[in-house]
Amino acid sequence: MIHIESLAALRAVVRDAVASRQAVRFVPTMGALHDGHAALIRAARADGGLVLVSVFVNPTQFGPNEDFARYPRTPGADAALATKAGADALWAPLVEDVYPAGPSARLSAGALGAVWEGAFRPGHFDGVATVVAKLLVASGADVLYLGEKDYQQTVVVRRLIRDLLLTTEVRVVPTVREPDGLALSSRNRYLSADDRRAAAAISRGLRACAKLAADGERRADALLVHLQDVIGGEPRVTVQYAGIADPDTLEPVTLLNAPARALVAAYVGATRLIDNILLVPPTP
Ligand code: AMP
Repeated sequence: MIHIESLAALRAVVRDAVASRQAVRFVPTMGALHDGHAALIRAARADGGLVLVSVFVNPTQFGPNEDFARYPRTPGADAALATKAGADALWAPLVEDVYPAGPSARLSAGALGAVWEGAFRPGHFDGVATVVAKLLVASGADVLYLGEKDYQQTVVVRRLIRDLLLTTEVRVVPTVREPDGLALSSRNRYLSADDRRAAAAISRGLRACAKLAADGERRADALLVHLQDVIGGEPRVTVQYAGIADPDTLEPVTLLNAPARALVAAYVGATRLIDNILLVPPTP
């Protein structure tokens, strides 16, 4: 696996791939790689071409009181995991390479970035949109691999690509979970042993909600009460928001007449986790 830092080195690798007619398959991450990231890399590997993984903890997507400074950074382990999962190149740019003029030009994620996560993390998706656009332009990615774990991010990025007239294709990879259902996340390592056990209540609640929907409950408020009840059975977990959204517009759904997305953010101790699940009502 090739290690890349500078933009010049990135461009040379991409130029070689294009010259040999290889598609550039791009997996952007913030590092602290785990098996969820590995699933994205493996999906890219299976599709063939040049598998490019980036590790960049993007400062502009963190709020002033968020965990940017203490976000886990594990470069040695990241390289090992990326290699094992089948990456050809690992690009770890410096902040000054991605923001050469400082944090100036900034994209807006618009209304899609203002709801759900965006309501509690103002500016977060503007930072995501900005960095994804920069990384796509710099890498010339043909295909972008995103995790379903960050569902709203997939919706925001798809819209961004369309808005900017980019031609990058998006592939969304299903969420990788621990055996008890907890979605893998770089932030799970912040959890104490008790919090780690309690955190499984989030996915338990989502699964219970999906089952109720599959069994025919169409009222979003009833589905959400059930979700909150199951998660609320675990006192260490505090729900910040729980909602049911249209899968494309992210608008709140009141009656489940079509598949929708249940979205949750919750604190487990001081750690904020997000998760989501697809709700599919029975066909009439
Ligand atoms: P991050 O490093 O958290 O910015 O995540 C980088 C990419 O990995 C994003 O597209 C995430 O959605 C994806 N990802 C993170 N956790 C998981 C997971 N448990 N399963 C699948 N994809 C994930």
